[in-house]
Amino acid sequence: MTVRAGREILALPGPTNMPDEVLQAMHRPALDIYSREMIDLTDGLHRDLSNLFATRNKSYIYISNGHGAWEGALSNVLSRGDKVLVLESGRFAVSWGNAARLMGAAVEVLKGDWRRAVRPDEVEARLRQDRAHEIKAILVAQVDTASGVVNDIEEIGKAIRASGHPALYMVDAVASLGCMPFKMDQWGIDVAMSGSQKGLMTPPGLGFVAASDRAQAVHRHADMRMPYWDWTEREGTEHYRRYAGTAPVHLLFALRKAIDMLLDEGLEHVFLRHRLLGEAVRRAVAVWAEGQVLGFNIDEVCERSDTVTTVTVAHGHDPGRLQRYCTEKCGVVLGTGIGDLQGKAFRIAHMGHVNAAMILGTLGVVEVGLNALQVPHGKGGLEAAVSYLGESVSA
Ligand SMILES: *Cc1c(COP(=O)(O)O)cnc(C)c1O
Repeated sequence: MTVRAGREILALPGPTNMPDEVLQAMHRPALDIYSREMIDLTDGLHRDLSNLFATRNKSYIYISNGHGAWEGALSNVLSRGDKVLVLESGRFAVSWGNAARLMGAAVEVLKGDWRRAVRPDEVEARLRQDRAHEIKAILVAQVDTASGVVNDIEEIGKAIRASGHPALYMVDAVASLGCMPFKMDQWGIDVAMSGSQKGLMTPPGLGFVAASDRAQAVHRHADMRMPYWDWTEREGTEHYRRYAGTAPVHLLFALRKAIDMLLDEGLEHVFLRHRLLGEAVRRAVAVWAEGQVLGFNIDEVCERSDTVTTVTVAHGHDPGRLQRYCTEKCGVVLGTGIGDLQGKAFRIAHMGHVNAAMILGTLGVVEVGLNALQVPHGKGGLEAAVSYLGESVSA
């Protein structure tokens, strides 16, 4: 027997739940890609993406997922043999670095830990050692979606500047843009990238990159440039060059609607909503952890992301069983543990188009699963989340 009729809730960190408005925005014919309407759509999206990144600089829209945008970002500023410093705090920056290595860069990983954020002082110390300025770029993820950590991108930026090192600061905001503050210019970021299918509530298939003046200057003599990704190729006067070919019109219709919804809600409010719902999840997990089987992957309270919580599962209990139960019996799809946490964790995403009912429903379903599978856990996690929201969301 199951209790899963009705809409399935995606509680995995991407693709995320899409609003009906976003789905409906795509239910129309394509438009003339040479029309004024198309040009206005592109110009408006470029403007709004730059505003989301909080930069006065240009942004670029690729027909790609996040992996594509990684390559787009790297290929525009790197030359073969350039050294890249990857700041480890889970899986994603390391994977970005692996792409750089395969493209011909020399990659060094600043050893981190899957259970904590990048330490800005360690970054500064490493950069100070590099007196010859061999390191050309620094890669980090604002939120590592595997470990559930949030890195302090502002503080890392300060550490880079304090070291006096000229390397480009490149930040992955795939699991954070549109969910929490991101200030490209203020934080001294040279290249920022993101994708459509997480906080931005849009189907997978769009990748975004923004580039500072410093990055544009390096770009001019970079030798990894490729025609599709190349920023300069996208600057021509002909509109279709913005997409290096046919525009992905339906994805753009969806993105337009999604960004309109975020702006209607107000970005500050969107960020607050993520904080509140993220904390509700953490309150529940903290109670479950009393049973000694479940726990937070990220040790430090202030390093836990407002977009995804990675929950470790100890003593031989199988997170896969819990995930299968939640999906098959209750219609809630949890995220799986990936990388080092495969088979040892599950993830609860709380990013994008989420409200209290979806989050409390997800937490309730996890408790149903823990009970049904007799996984020891502290009782009252859902109640703790309910109490927290009742105290925090004022009437
Ligand atoms: C999801 C994700 C990516 C990869 O995006 P894809 O669209 O799956 O290629 C990169 N970085 C972070 C932080 C992510 O969460």
